[in-house]
Amino acid sequence: MKILSVVGARPNFMKIAPIMRAIQAASPETQQTLVHTGQHFDEKMSDVFFRELELPKPDEHLGVSGGSHAVQTARIMLEFEPILEKHRPDWLVVVGDVNSTVACSLVASKIGIPIAHVEAGLRSRDNTMPEEINRKITDAISDLLLTPSPDGDANLIAEGVDRDRIVCVGNVMIDSLIRALPKIEASKILSELELTAGNYVLATLHRPSNVDDPQMLAQLIKALNQISASLPIVFPVHPRTRARLEAENIELADGIKMVDPLGYFDFMALMRSAKVVMTDSGGVQEETTYLGVTCLTVRPNTERPITIDEGTNRLVQPGTETLLEAWKEVEANPPQRRCPELWDGKAAERIAARLLQTSSDTP
Ligand code: UDP
Repeated sequence: MKILSVVGARPNFMKIAPIMRAIQAASPETQQTLVHTGQHFDEKMSDVFFRELELPKPDEHLGVSGGSHAVQTARIMLEFEPILEKHRPDWLVVVGDVNSTVACSLVASKIGIPIAHVEAGLRSRDNTMPEEINRKITDAISDLLLTPSPDGDANLIAEGVDRDRIVCVGNVMIDSLIRALPKIEASKILSELELTAGNYVLATLHRPSNVDDPQMLAQLIKALNQISASLPIVFPVHPRTRARLEAENIELADGIKMVDPLGYFDFMALMRSAKVVMTDSGGVQEETTYLGVTCLTVRPNTERPITIDEGTNRLVQPGTETLLEAWKEVEANPPQRRCPELWDGKAAERIAARLLQTSSDTP
């Protein structure tokens, strides 16, 4: 059997690494190919994850980065088509909701290569999020929909997807987290940043709705500036956010330690020992739920409601006062968590078993 997996952006690496490892373990004879589209390409957004997550070097690199959504999606499609024709895998494996996910799926669907979508079925019901469009299109054309939690199954069934194509496999991102725990525990990042466990906030912001609107970005930084007067905030800044902060001359208070994007082990070490995490990330909502760390998600909605229903996540309507209020509330009453079912470090094994079990024409 031949399986071709695609990565493009930071959140993809921690999902594909355990899947490739599980396929190799279950079936060493399966021929695996890794394609990197190049959406994220530098040391801090890509290379460090290949090393830390022990991903193999990509067999093919499409070198597509930057550009508008349309330009990026179209260029990935153009570059990916001949690669897919050349390899003709039995399965294309795509993960998550980035432009690479939808672009490669579209190419495969037209060539007739079966598509397995990992992290299928998540819905924010907010079409202003580019990721929501990517999720819906990818799910609509995928042959096998591998969901992280039962809400994903329910969303797909409500959209009319045949139940036979849906498999709840659990959360593959948590596989990477569990495997990395010893390395995360060995990280020296807290002492390097002069932080003490339980005594700081970890913040990340990069969703266009929060950082591309200068007024919104200024409002959120205003709240962080105020919070940092009582507790230090460490803020690993996504390149998109850094560009906006600089363009708008938005000042950060001294209590905010702004650092470059961090490698996986250091970032997860900071998350694990934070008092509260403030974020608009998708993956961070899941990782904090697994770790039982309070998370304030600065967004009006989430495609990951299980992190609220069972986990430690709370939504905060983006704004200065709303964030300050939510901060006070969780400081006094930290949410309790139950770890969602199948977030157990074995999702990739279940994914590999499913991919290998079927002949590609009968998913
Ligand atoms: N992450 C990291 N270093 C950072 C920020 C994030 O290692 O400085 C990891 C973390 O595991 C997170 C993942 O990258 O869950 C994806 O992050 P991002 O917020 O960029 O993507 P999203 O999940 O919002 O698509």
